[in-house]
Amino acid sequence: MNITNIKINGIKNPVGYDFSHTRVSWQISAAEKEAETYPDGLEKTKIEVSKDKSFSCILFEKHGKLTQTGEVLDMELSPRTRYYVRISVQECDGNIVSETTFFETSKIDEEWAGKWIKPQKGDTFHPVFCKEFSVEKKVQSARLYISGLGMYQAFLNEKQAGNEVLTPYYSNYHVQVQYQTYDITQNLQQGVNNIKVLLGNGWYKGKFGLDHQENIFGTEFMMLAEIHIFYEDGTEIVIGSDETWQYCGSDIENSGIYDGEIINHLLWEGQENNWKSPIPAQPEGKLIARYSLPVIEKEDMPVQEVIKTPAGETVLDFGQNFAGYVVFKTFLAKGSKIVLDFGEILQDENFYNKNYRDAKSQFTYISDGRSEIVKPHFTYFGFRFARVSGWQGEISKDDFMGKAVYSDMDRTGFIQTGHEKVNRLFLNALWGQKSNFVDFPTDCPQRDERLGWTGDAQVFAGTASYNMDTGAFYQKFLYDLRTEQKKYDGIVPGVIPVLDPQGPIFSSIWGDIATFLPMVIFEHNGDKEALASNYPMMKDWVDKITCEDKVRGQQYLYNFGNQLGDWLALDGRTEQSMNGGTDEYFIGSCYYAMSVAKTADAAKILGITEDALYYQKLYGHIKDAVIKEYFTQSGRLAIDSQTGYIIALYSGIYPDKERVKEGLRTRLYKDCYKLKGGFAGAPILCRVLAENGMQEEAFYFLLQEGYPGWLHCVNLGATTIWERWNSVLGDGHLSGTMMNSLNHYAYGAIVEFLYRNVAGLYPAKPGFQKITYSPLINQKLGTMKASYNCPYGTWRSEWQIKPDGRVHIILEVPFGCTADVGLPFYPDKEIGEVTAGIHRFDYQPTEDLRMRYNKQTMFKDMMQDEKAQEVIERVSPLLGYFLGSGNEDFLYESLDTLTRMSYMGFKEEEIEKLTKELTSIYD
Ligand code: BGC
Repeated sequence: MNITNIKINGIKNPVGYDFSHTRVSWQISAAEKEAETYPDGLEKTKIEVSKDKSFSCILFEKHGKLTQTGEVLDMELSPRTRYYVRISVQECDGNIVSETTFFETSKIDEEWAGKWIKPQKGDTFHPVFCKEFSVEKKVQSARLYISGLGMYQAFLNEKQAGNEVLTPYYSNYHVQVQYQTYDITQNLQQGVNNIKVLLGNGWYKGKFGLDHQENIFGTEFMMLAEIHIFYEDGTEIVIGSDETWQYCGSDIENSGIYDGEIINHLLWEGQENNWKSPIPAQPEGKLIARYSLPVIEKEDMPVQEVIKTPAGETVLDFGQNFAGYVVFKTFLAKGSKIVLDFGEILQDENFYNKNYRDAKSQFTYISDGRSEIVKPHFTYFGFRFARVSGWQGEISKDDFMGKAVYSDMDRTGFIQTGHEKVNRLFLNALWGQKSNFVDFPTDCPQRDERLGWTGDAQVFAGTASYNMDTGAFYQKFLYDLRTEQKKYDGIVPGVIPVLDPQGPIFSSIWGDIATFLPMVIFEHNGDKEALASNYPMMKDWVDKITCEDKVRGQQYLYNFGNQLGDWLALDGRTEQSMNGGTDEYFIGSCYYAMSVAKTADAAKILGITEDALYYQKLYGHIKDAVIKEYFTQSGRLAIDSQTGYIIALYSGIYPDKERVKEGLRTRLYKDCYKLKGGFAGAPILCRVLAENGMQEEAFYFLLQEGYPGWLHCVNLGATTIWERWNSVLGDGHLSGTMMNSLNHYAYGAIVEFLYRNVAGLYPAKPGFQKITYSPLINQKLGTMKASYNCPYGTWRSEWQIKPDGRVHIILEVPFGCTADVGLPFYPDKEIGEVTAGIHRFDYQPTEDLRMRYNKQTMFKDMMQDEKAQEVIERVSPLLGYFLGSGNEDFLYESLDTLTRMSYMGFKEEEIEKLTKELTSIYD
């Protein structure tokens, strides 16, 4: 048995965070035999906390049957202190002890010895602050506590403190500013040392937001630092920022999130740039300990190809769209100027980035002849291609390296199927996540937005939380949202920061992140404490809608305001329209109901009985009102659109489920199975289909290669998820530049269907302590290999259809977990519950799953198949004629629908024979 993966507030060995709520979680891995010994979990677990690594003096101890997903460390914490944590388990074979982990506190409420300082009036250049100090004795440990606005990077003896970028990270700086803590023990040297702090514009004062305003949160650069050095002899010195520090203009000529950065080593040539004394400063927001995860260079992205374009330009192709920047080494002559421009796609083989709109997205470097490693400090780009101008000589691939930059989260989910294009789709969604999880969830990483759009985040949260351990990342976003919500009387804005003087966007789906996200987090990490911290937000959101509804005479509907609805759906006024065709108020009201139901669930989990009853009752009223308003008396949904039916089934609001399903089937048929959904309908389409007996349709949409569809984008070379179904047209041109990003993760939510339904990792208890295992086995996918590292350990699900038709399944259940197993087409009686360990199932299914076609397969999908063609021509020349006649309608018929077309002259025996032969074609 092993105790691993100990995290404090969802983070490994966190340093400098706000630990006013401290929770510890851990995993247990055990051999199968051991797992059988403890079917009900471990009775004797112990958490110990100490200030010393050897645990000679235990400050806090908790034991008994403890909860792996989060035990609260209810203890007083001192500032700037490292606490060691270990967990042990007493079991029959003895005592098993985890490795020692730690967390380290920030300054908590301690006074700062350092002061905020800023350049003198009129010095608007990018400054660098500096202080020399001496280290006289042997250093035991040293820390730097620091913040800076807009952004800062600190260097000790020319080496960066830590490895984070874009610090102090985004927050509503009017309200709060984060500071970070770095262990700088290794950066120091005996004798004279220096600290330099570079400042950039960042989100704080650079161009940012929909209106490209500057100085949104402030106009001045400023910084604050405090160095604590502990000598081995037990003494301590503190160096705080104050007027004795000095500053001058740095070589950063300009910086900004949208426009990029200019490093100009000749900026000050011939000009006076003397060291000056700073003056005191005071930021508007309160200084608080960090709550952002570190954003770091997570992956190296080598250049795949150096392209000479028809326009004569040199373009680096990194082969993958991502967020980050490019690093290069220079030996350039003085005065040389290198410019890198970034783009997502080539157009007519040439460099292109008009879809970045007003984001200049450029990195400029002007050399003074020094040789150095070059990279920007205060910006990032979203790109696959970089145009290089000014380079002297031939460019080789190795001259440049891309760095993918994103918040430091553990990868938890993996999927590999037998279908190459689905594997690419999976990666595209994963890259969408990596590119848009840069401190907070953004819509896109490249154009003049990169904003905290809440609807995008809401629909993708499930997928994201299978892929990575998102708990701490999302808690940060929820904290920021809560800050805004308090300001706007319960409204959770459609986007943060809110810059519109008229106030926030107040819309369902977007605002419903308030209830959906806390429940997604809870589903994945089972952490009640985190849920409790988000409960007030959930409540305030639904109460706000209720209150607005009351003002309008209480109809129990969310049928007011400008709602974004099924954003970018294809059934709007035109395919390029922003608003989809489905009634926004129907969507809004269903989401209102779901949000209220989630609030009731949360109240129940948290033991707030009165609230639970109130919200359950309210949910009943909303449900009744939606049925009254949007369904006919006999139970037909009056909103006849794909998304309408999907949302009804997803929310569980209908008087008669069968009629909704029937309506959806008919709608899909009438739409020739062309996907219509936008941000509301598409992310949940396949899940809803599969969970409502339409598995075949779900796979059809997953695997559809024509326009519109997920694999259509893959076929057109997508390496991330696009904002629109038609972002790129069949001829490779962008469909427009108005709102067209190639790295928008919303439709990547399809991946949740792969984990949850296809792989069968469907949670039945918080934290995946239990799942309902019923994978969707489909020949078109061939095989499925998926794993998910939940708080308890790793779930693994693999299935395969063997050439002899037998189904082979492997299900691995982590320690302390169970699965309710119901296998598809299983010939014997149900398997029921299984416990931790590896379970193998090998069986002859009751239906032959090898068959290429079934009764629902559209003829369209048989058109490229010679075997099927031969059967059709021979058995039904009439069908063959229709299919070849150029009448598109017929391609969307199936054996099933043919039975309803006797008026066309099809005979019963003919259809029967066709069915028999077509469904006997195997792979
Ligand atoms: C963003 C979206 C967002 C939408 C809502 C767009 O500009 O890129 O993803 O959700 O606006 O209005």
